[in-house]
Amino acid sequence: EKISSAEAIALENQYGAHNYHPLPVVLSKGKGVFVWDVEGKKYYDFLSAYSAVNQGHCHPEIIEALTDQAQTLTLTSRAFYNDKLGVYEKFVADYFGFDKVLPMNTGAEAVETAIKICRKWAYEKKGINENEAQIIVCENNFHGRTTTIISFSNDENARKNFGPYTAGFIKIPYDNIEALEQAIQSSSNIAGFLVEPIQGEAGVYVPSEGYLAKAKALCEKHNILFIADEVQTGIARTGKLLAVQHENVQPDVLILGKAISGGVYPVSAVLADDAIMNVIKPGQHGSTFGGNPLAAAVAIAALNVVEKEKLADNAERLGVIFREKLKDYIKTSNTVTMVRGKGLLNAIVINDTEESETAWNICVKLAENGLLAKPTHGNIIRFAPPLVMTEEQLLDCISIITKTLQEFEK
Ligand code: PMP
Repeated sequence: EKISSAEAIALENQYGAHNYHPLPVVLSKGKGVFVWDVEGKKYYDFLSAYSAVNQGHCHPEIIEALTDQAQTLTLTSRAFYNDKLGVYEKFVADYFGFDKVLPMNTGAEAVETAIKICRKWAYEKKGINENEAQIIVCENNFHGRTTTIISFSNDENARKNFGPYTAGFIKIPYDNIEALEQAIQSSSNIAGFLVEPIQGEAGVYVPSEGYLAKAKALCEKHNILFIADEVQTGIARTGKLLAVQHENVQPDVLILGKAISGGVYPVSAVLADDAIMNVIKPGQHGSTFGGNPLAAAVAIAALNVVEKEKLADNAERLGVIFREKLKDYIKTSNTVTMVRGKGLLNAIVINDTEESETAWNICVKLAENGLLAKPTHGNIIRFAPPLVMTEEQLLDCISIITKTLQEFEK
């Protein structure tokens, strides 16, 4: 049954919880860097489902893995072994250089998992008194919206009236190594430092060069787990397989989600070495769907695509072009004040207040002009296309973006 955009939006508005504020575009098809709406209008996807569709929409190799596995075995739960899981776990452990994997489904779940691992490790290996472990987190973080995660969020909209909150987190400014050192020295109960290598949802904030390496060194010195949330930055998005690799950092605990499955199926994972991961014993953590055969098959295919198609190199190369061209544009612009990012995770800052509708209106206009992006919030627009984009396509997109911005110049 074909449905119009207006009908789809009306249904969603009537029957769906109002927990999102989408752009008024109703999509029904995707291929590579393109998506189509129900009326057949074609768009460049410049969001990639918040960096999940790095391998492009409906990548044939990932879809083949999905459909093959879907006809064989989809779910056993973890009550039994299945023939795909161990193979997948070895593949992922080798791929990222860790001993062990704990498979989950969503990014937020994986963050929760990492917090549990870190706390258990602190009690068993560091001798911190039970219930007293503290994890350092950063201002303006985004790690998801579960009750524990919102407990250390700055986003009042996501947090207010959802208490009581979970204790055990110390918040420090991002990209501030002195603040980290002070926080570590403020208590003998510090167990971990949870950090996004680039803050995505906050507005694509790239920390100063050396920050992550220095933070990792501090953690090592004080026997604190360095926990990298690479849900958004990982899987080649920033021009390396992992964003921490720009500074040659290997986290103690690595959190992955989104693009580990190319956006084809919900897959997330926490990786760590034996000395850390072995603190989790049977029955202490799990998920019915985590590590199911379908997830395993899809994630292997999706990670193979990243390597085969050299998506990290492509993100690196196209990212440089993107920022160069936009920096050229803003030299004479009153509307855009800044472009920043790494690889193909970039943002522009609109010259207006955070409360203004300008960024939103620009995105509405971009959609009319055939390109989909969305403000992270306020006056910042994130640009994160699938990494399978060609240079020619990117130049076409830059031309759409700059022409659209011109309509907003005063
Ligand atoms: N961590 C980071 C860094 C994220 O960007 C996100 C999602 N934007 C999450 C965690 C949460 O992932 P999910 O929406 O899959 O729960």
